[in-house]
Amino acid sequence: MVKNMKSRILIIEDEEDIRELVRYNLEREGFCVAEAESGEEGLKKISKKIPDLILLDLMLPGKDGMQICRELKQDEDTRGIPIVMMTARGEESDIVAGLELGAEDYIVKPFSPKVLMARVKTVLRRRASPEPADEAVLTIGDLMIHPGRHQVTVKGKPVDLTATEFGVLHLLARRPGWVFTRYQIVDAVHGEDYPVTERSVDVQIVGLRKKLKSAGKMVETVRGIGYRFGEMY
Ligand code: CA
Repeated sequence: MVKNMKSRILIIEDEEDIRELVRYNLEREGFCVAEAESGEEGLKKISKKIPDLILLDLMLPGKDGMQICRELKQDEDTRGIPIVMMTARGEESDIVAGLELGAEDYIVKPFSPKVLMARVKTVLRRRASPEPADEAVLTIGDLMIHPGRHQVTVKGKPVDLTATEFGVLHLLARRPGWVFTRYQIVDAVHGEDYPVTERSVDVQIVGLRKKLKSAGKMVETVRGIGYRFGEMY
């Protein structure tokens, strides 16, 4: 159950047309909407009242979206507010940087109202239901992950994964639909001192998919950004 009525969403976007379109669609779904034309105005509004979610344009006059994201994620009071970045096509490197700063998700312009609403609701739903505990057994479609035993089965048959492959799969599967950059994957699985190469993550993913066979398609590539566990299963 998504409590639309109570959720307050702040749009930080300098283009009036987009602000109005987004506001119209959010209000129609019962959300409470606030707007800011610039990052500075957005920060001011946030300091007065903490929203439940921020839709943040990356290309803003003055402080840009990346700066705003960084400031919000560095401040203890605002760190927990989910941020969905609104980006233009071709801004993959900004999306990667934003995700690594802690933004929850992104949406590429021009987007349909339907996609926007789905994204907003997914992020709010994630907030409402905490991710499973480290040791919780995950069952997703034919796939079962048993962290305590470091064991994975597909359709009941054990799959022999390396420790790293297991770590990558567990990381992604605990947060279905969540996009992880390569850096985030390497960082989570090996700790920060492991040499970060995009190639090493790609190789792990290829191996993982092959071993998971029919369940391998759940590990999705997000072009130019990273990987995620498909939500459809
Ligand atoms: Ca803009």
